[in-house]
Amino acid sequence: MSDSPEKQQPVLKVAVNVPLSREFDYLPAAEGRLPVPGSRVEVQFGPRRQVGLVLEHSNQSDLAPARIRRCLTVLDEPPLLSDADLRLIRFTSDYYHHPIGEVVAAALPALLRQGKPLHPSVEVVGATDLGEAADLETLAKRAPKQAELLETLLDAGGNGLVADELTEQLPNWRRVAKALFEKGLIARFDVRLGDFDETLAPEATAGPELNADQQEALATLRGKTKVGAYLLEGVTGSGKTEVYLRRMRDVLEQGQQVLVLVPEIGLTPQLVSRLRKRLGIEPALLHSGLTDIERLAAWRAARSGAARLVVGTRSAIFTPLKNPGLIIVDEEHDQSFKQQEGLRYSARDLAIVRAKYLDIPVILGTATPTLEMLHHCRSGAYELIRLPKRAGGAQPPSLRLIDTIRSPAIDGISEPLAAAIDSHLNSDGQVLIFLNRRGFAPTLICSGCGHIAGCDRCDSRLTVHARSQQLRCHHCGVIRPLDPNCSECGETVRPLGEGTERLEDALRERFPGRAITRIDSDSTQRKGAMIDALDQAKQGRAEILVGTQMLSKGHHFPMLSLVGIVNADQGLFGTDFRSSERMAQSIVQVAGRAGRERRAGEVLIQTAFPEHAFWSTLIGGGYEQVASEALAEREATRWPPYTRLALIRSAAHQHDDAIQFLEIAKLALTPHCGDHLRVLGPVDAPMARRAGRHRAQLLLQSSDRPTLHVVLRELRQALEQDPAARKVRWSIDVDPIELF
Ligand code: ADP
Ligand code: ZN
Repeated sequence: MSDSPEKQQPVLKVAVNVPLSREFDYLPAAEGRLPVPGSRVEVQFGPRRQVGLVLEHSNQSDLAPARIRRCLTVLDEPPLLSDADLRLIRFTSDYYHHPIGEVVAAALPALLRQGKPLHPSVEVVGATDLGEAADLETLAKRAPKQAELLETLLDAGGNGLVADELTEQLPNWRRVAKALFEKGLIARFDVRLGDFDETLAPEATAGPELNADQQEALATLRGKTKVGAYLLEGVTGSGKTEVYLRRMRDVLEQGQQVLVLVPEIGLTPQLVSRLRKRLGIEPALLHSGLTDIERLAAWRAARSGAARLVVGTRSAIFTPLKNPGLIIVDEEHDQSFKQQEGLRYSARDLAIVRAKYLDIPVILGTATPTLEMLHHCRSGAYELIRLPKRAGGAQPPSLRLIDTIRSPAIDGISEPLAAAIDSHLNSDGQVLIFLNRRGFAPTLICSGCGHIAGCDRCDSRLTVHARSQQLRCHHCGVIRPLDPNCSECGETVRPLGEGTERLEDALRERFPGRAITRIDSDSTQRKGAMIDALDQAKQGRAEILVGTQMLSKGHHFPMLSLVGIVNADQGLFGTDFRSSERMAQSIVQVAGRAGRERRAGEVLIQTAFPEHAFWSTLIGGGYEQVASEALAEREATRWPPYTRLALIRSAAHQHDDAIQFLEIAKLALTPHCGDHLRVLGPVDAPMARRAGRHRAQLLLQSSDRPTLHVVLRELRQALEQDPAARKVRWSIDVDPIELF
């Protein structure tokens, strides 16, 4: 290497996508420009070429100058990410104790992660004039596959189809295409996609006049143009969205961007179309259902400022914004804001951090705030803004219990619930039957020996899928045919527990001739199925809706008057300290779907424990009372939000390896244990075996956040270098939301 002595070159600190908590040193390439921080570079990493991201320039390195490699090429000019973006990435890596190269990878769209340019061209395929004139029928006889491809392209019209989209429709089209290319019937070309056009949306429409509570909330928010976190707590249907909309409009009119984080876009198509209609701005959407090219296009529009409104699911928190003015987190309590594998971050918490860095407000909206957020409001860190009443005069739904000891549920439905369904249907109401499926999926039990069909690879029961005559493991995906006889003793087996399918069947039998729609993860796998089903429900064409959690989220069904919750009990005795908070959230959210317009809503809850204190608290004092009592209990028992948690997880083929690894971790932590840090475990994970691996966990509990982070940093470094780490898969989960 021949360094010219006259110019001192900086050392580039580069993030590379590998599971090591460190940055790597490179020198700028021998020729060309110096890559500024935020630019991607191509580097030689071990035997491979990798895409890295320059984090900073430095004049120091642990390596001897002669040993520092040069980077190969600079991929971005100007840089891809701004200093503000890099700051969020660094924070994420530090706070979640996750390798920075992997954080960068999570923050970038796949194509950029792979080193593609910011404006890649895409391959488009279309029929030629010759193709349009071709005789399809004759072709179909000789070469049906070719005819199918040509027909698909003809259907697509003059602009042809993006190759990725074509692959979705005809996975093997490339094999067939060759002959058609040769005959000149189709052609391919590279196209640079047009830029994002936000005027695609219809003209903005006016909303309802705000009521007094909404006006007050809006006035408060309008007074807060600087940094701050605001929890907008409004009962379901109180018109929170209307308040956000006005605040968003202010910000947009000033030419600033708004980032809206939502739990799952697929589940809230109504919100997206409402934003579009009311603001008259086409949002850039970022969610998991996009093709790579679509995702990059939306990301780029957010970055360039071409899109002023950016709406996305959790990973959208990392999207660069040219001129951000406001962040909104809708349904703050929703657990999908927490990523549960790989980089385990909370998009809600990062939204608050990001807003602070950007010096802009963040509004967190929900009817059922998490105790963490309520605690921050009580301590004065965040501000609470409340909407206590339903907007537009709708009444809150009334909650009533059905004692299933006195009135047993047959196939999930008790007599009083059936009578209520009947009466609501007869007066043109719509009914929603809600099943909390977790832990209640139907399993097979043998009537002879009591054997329950389990998964061989996981400590879990197999779930009955009657329609497809299958048993499936929801943890590892194993599928087995449904055998009517017990594998142990040969007696007949029968399903135990209520699944949505069984419930749907029972309802059909009981209410023949009624339009029944089931909405759960199975019934909505087809693209667009969810939107269709929700549209039907919204227009009142479905008389009875049956479903799981999906139905509880943010939907507005104008005709819905009765909600039946068929199995409410498991949360009463849950082992997780968050059980009662979660159960109250889920009941209040689904109850909130009822009676959102003129018609008063009724909510019936089936429980075998009507005397349980939880019910009197919830029915007497609402979510607020449940939350308030739960907070007092958490304070007394020293659980979050009064302490901080981190969970170290390990999984290995041998049980001992999983435990031993955590014993090593525990030993490393022992000197730090005391008033500020407790270490619990290691113990087997609640599901001790999953997909053939044994799983264990170690819980760290601390009353002092800085202490916890210092300890975790040291621990991570030590564990990465420990030979025992090679035998296990391990991870650190800071602020875990699932413990047991
Ligand atoms: P939330 O977000 O709190 O669930 P929304 O903003 O979706 O509430 O409002 C619930 C329903 O009430 C919607 O149909 C909305 O159009 C209507 N609404 C909201 N604010 C008003 C108002 N001030 N006057 C009349 N209707 C309103
Ligand atoms: Zn399994």
